[in-house]
Amino acid sequence: MTPHQLERYERHLALPEIGVAGQEKLLASSVLVVGAGGLGSPASIYLAAAGVGRIGLVDADRVDRSNLQRQILHEDASVGRLKTASGADTLRRINPEVVVEEHPVRLVGANAGAIVQRYDLVVNGVDNFPTRYLLNDVCVWLGKPLVDASILRFEAQATVYLPGQGCYRCLFPQPPPPGLVPSCAEGGILGALAGTLGAPQAVEAVKTLLGVGRPLSDRLLLYDALGGGWRSLRRARDPDCPVCGHTPSILEPVDYEHFCGLKEESMVKEVLPVEAHKLLEGNPAIQFVDVREPWEYEKVHAAGVKLIPLGEVPDRVGELDKNRPVLCICAKGGRSMKACDFLLSQGFSDVTNVAEGTKGWVEQGLPTGG
Ligand SMILES: [Zn+2]
Repeated sequence: MTPHQLERYERHLALPEIGVAGQEKLLASSVLVVGAGGLGSPASIYLAAAGVGRIGLVDADRVDRSNLQRQILHEDASVGRLKTASGADTLRRINPEVVVEEHPVRLVGANAGAIVQRYDLVVNGVDNFPTRYLLNDVCVWLGKPLVDASILRFEAQATVYLPGQGCYRCLFPQPPPPGLVPSCAEGGILGALAGTLGAPQAVEAVKTLLGVGRPLSDRLLLYDALGGGWRSLRRARDPDCPVCGHTPSILEPVDYEHFCGLKEESMVKEVLPVEAHKLLEGNPAIQFVDVREPWEYEKVHAAGVKLIPLGEVPDRVGELDKNRPVLCICAKGGRSMKACDFLLSQGFSDVTNVAEGTKGWVEQGLPTGG
């Protein structure tokens, strides 16, 4: 180590569990952080500060102003930039010695193996189930430790999947039905909760890289921010797991969107806002449903629309008549597509999604409010 490094990492060197040998190990190691968002921000910042030699950031998104409440890799001036570029700049400012690699792509079956292969360990900061299952499977196949966490509203969980000691599929063999678990955009999230779990991800990553302490690999750590309590559940490898079990049946990437119920051969029709408006004028029997959250509805909504937030659709489906057409709208068309798919699965036969959502509706100058 250089004199500069001896000074920078002095507090690590003072720890017998790290010392010079441990710090040199960190400097020679590499971590892939998937998702430069809420969890990936604190995790990657602490890993860069700790002197992990090479850090990869995977994220296809651009910084949105609504990210800034929790994604501390990015700042106000970064809005509109690629998250990987904005995040890499932040990490380089914190520790110029760290090599930061930018992967501005969406992780899919075709690219995940090649990216994950290049790193010693993976930190999971993804926000959707298809990528979560894909990343899990790829880490099992490549024998990479996966430091996992997820956060929503006021609750969080974290664990570490070490090769041969179980995986995400052992714990959650099946994804929840589509639409059941809201995204952070729908359900909301306390910003600081990202730090509450992202920082321990960095801790577990450092422990795993150094092989010190008791890894979180036999427990699922649960945190309830409102109650202010931590607890942990024992977890173990499932010998029948289709990916990491004794006789695995899944040996290569599957269609994860399909597995998570997000890409059925859709029977949903889609129309642009202008066409949707024409349909509504021509057929008073159409049930027009806005599946956004109440606060979004209050800001602006299409005239004559009924509010049923996506998360409430399963419970309130009885309010809609299966024999009449349904037209679903949300902000941009994504959530309403989930609602349409759900309605089809419940026996509705005439279901139409409004592409471009309320945003398009307003931009086209169609009637609002009321
Ligand atoms: Zn498993």
